[in-house]
Amino acid sequence: MAKFIFVTGGVISSLGKGITSASIGRILEARGLKVTLMKFDPYINVDPGTMNPYQHGEVYVTEDGAETDLDLGHYERFTHAQMTKFHNVTTGQVYNAVITKERHGDYLGKTIQVIPHITNEIKERVKIAAHVSGADIVIAEIGGTVGDIESLPFLEAARQFSLDMGKDNVLYIHVTLVPYIKCAEEIKTKPTQHSVGTLREIGIQPDVLICRTEKPLSNELKEKISLFCNVRKEAVIEAKDVGSIYQIPLVFKNQVLDEIILSHFRLISKSCDLKDWEKNVVERAISPKNKITVAVVGKYITLQDAYKSIYEALIHAGIANDARVEVKKIDSEIIEKQGAEKILKGVSGVLVPGGFGYRGIEGKIKAIKFAREKKIPLLGLCLGMQCAVIEFARNVCGLKGANSSEFKPKTKYPVISLLEEQSRVKNLGGTMRLGAYLCKIKKASLAYKSYGKALVKERHRHRYEFNNKYKKIFEKKGMVFSGIYQKKNLVEIVELKNHPYFVAVQFHPEFKSKPNKAHPLFREFIKAGLALSKLYESDIGVRGREGF
Ligand code: GLN
Repeated sequence: MAKFIFVTGGVISSLGKGITSASIGRILEARGLKVTLMKFDPYINVDPGTMNPYQHGEVYVTEDGAETDLDLGHYERFTHAQMTKFHNVTTGQVYNAVITKERHGDYLGKTIQVIPHITNEIKERVKIAAHVSGADIVIAEIGGTVGDIESLPFLEAARQFSLDMGKDNVLYIHVTLVPYIKCAEEIKTKPTQHSVGTLREIGIQPDVLICRTEKPLSNELKEKISLFCNVRKEAVIEAKDVGSIYQIPLVFKNQVLDEIILSHFRLISKSCDLKDWEKNVVERAISPKNKITVAVVGKYITLQDAYKSIYEALIHAGIANDARVEVKKIDSEIIEKQGAEKILKGVSGVLVPGGFGYRGIEGKIKAIKFAREKKIPLLGLCLGMQCAVIEFARNVCGLKGANSSEFKPKTKYPVISLLEEQSRVKNLGGTMRLGAYLCKIKKASLAYKSYGKALVKERHRHRYEFNNKYKKIFEKKGMVFSGIYQKKNLVEIVELKNHPYFVAVQFHPEFKSKPNKAHPLFREFIKAGLALSKLYESDIGVRGREGF
C-alpha cells in the first residue's frame, strides 16, 4: 500500500510549496522509492486553462493533455513522476463530479454535504493518483494558505486520511515562514505558531515543519518552534533562501529529512544518493564558465510565473552548455514603440513564447524580423512560431498584410488559420489541441541535428495551425518545414537555411526540459547563442555583423 504525505502552507502564499514538494519527491527517489505528486487547487475553475496568466501564471500541459497548475512542472522537472489529468484536482472538478453523481441519482436519496460527500470525492482522487502511478509514496500539495475558506474541505479530507489509512501511513508537512525583522534584528516564530495553531484546530498536527527563512535558524529557535508547535526538534527543517532552486533537495538531505520521513513510515531503503544531482545539476547551475544574454520577448513579462517552464528550460540549457543564461525580459509592446534594433542590440538569442490575442503581436514580429536578418539565434514557441510564419509571409514572400485569422479574421492571407474542427468549437475550456502528438522530423535539418532522431512526441496547447495552402510559396523562399504531425499533415517545426539557428515550433518543448536533461531545442539554441556571443567579443563579429 502507498504512503501519503500532505503538504500545507502557512503565514503567506508564494513560500515555494511546489518546489518544496518536488524536492521532497527528489530525496525520496534518491532513496530508491517510487513517488508521485499531486496538487489540490481550491479555486472553483475546473482547470486553469481559461485563466489569464496574470491571474494564474503559466498553464502547464501534461502528456495526456490536461491544463494544470505550474507546480506540476516542478514535480516533473525534479522527479521521474509522470503527471496526468489525475494529478491536479480543483474545487471545480470535485463539485462538478459530486453534482453530476447527484443528478444521476447515485447518492440514493441522501442530503449531499461537504462532509462526507465532498471530502470523500477528494480522498478518492488521492487514491486514484496513487493507483494510476503505482507509487510507493504520494505527495499531495494543498494549494493556498491555512486559514483560507476555500481550502478547508481539502484540509478536512487530509485530516480524515490518517483516520482511514492509519497514522503510520500518513505524514503532514507544513511549510511556513519565519520572518527576520530588520529593525529589531530578530527572527520571529509567532506567525509559525499561529499557523500551526490554525492547522491543529482543524485537527492536523504537522509532523514536519519546513521553515522558510532569510537567516539561519539557531538551535534555540528550533527548540522554541518545536515546543510551541509540538513538532520534534529534528523535524523542524531550516529552508534558508538559496541561489538555485535545484539546491533544495540537498538542503533537505543535509537535515536528513528523507530519514525522518522513512522512519515515520517504518520504511527501510537504500541510502540517499544525490551525487549525480549535486555534480551535474547544482554545481553546474551555480558556477558555470560562460555567460550569455538572451531576450524573451513576450507580453506577460512583468509576471515571473507566466513563462515559468521557459525560464527553467533556459536554465537547463545553460547547465548543458556550462553557461549562465541571463534573461532580458522584454515587453513586446516596447518593441512596437521603440523598434527592435534599440531594444535587442547585443543579445545572443531571441526567444518568442506562446500567447493569445493580438496585443503585442506586432512587436514579436519585429523582434523575429530583427533576429532573422541579423542572424541572431531564434527560438519561437507556439504563438512564437505563428509570428515567425507571419513575419516570413509579409517580409520574404511578399504577402502583404499576411496574418493569423486569430488576429484578423478577414485577412487576405491567413497563413495561420483554424482547422475545420476547431471552427465549430463553442466552449473555450479544454477544447484546444492539447497534449502530446507525434512529430516526424526531416533529416538534414536543425531539428534533426538537435534531437538526433526522426520521431519525437511534444506537447501542444493551441487552436490555430499553419495554413498548408501557403506551404509551396514558403518553401520556394527558403523556409524549411522540418517537423510534421503526419496523421493530419500539420506543420510542427519551421526553420531557415542560411541562418545559424532559426527554429520555431508549434508545440511547447519547455514542458519536457529537465535540469539534468535539457530539451534539445533549448540546448542547441543556447549553444548557437554562445557561438554568437564569442563572435561579439571578437573583432570579426563587429566587422561582419554591422548593425549590432
Ligand atoms: N493563440 C495561438 C493559438 O491558439 C497560440 C497559442 C499558444 O501560444 N499557446 O493557436
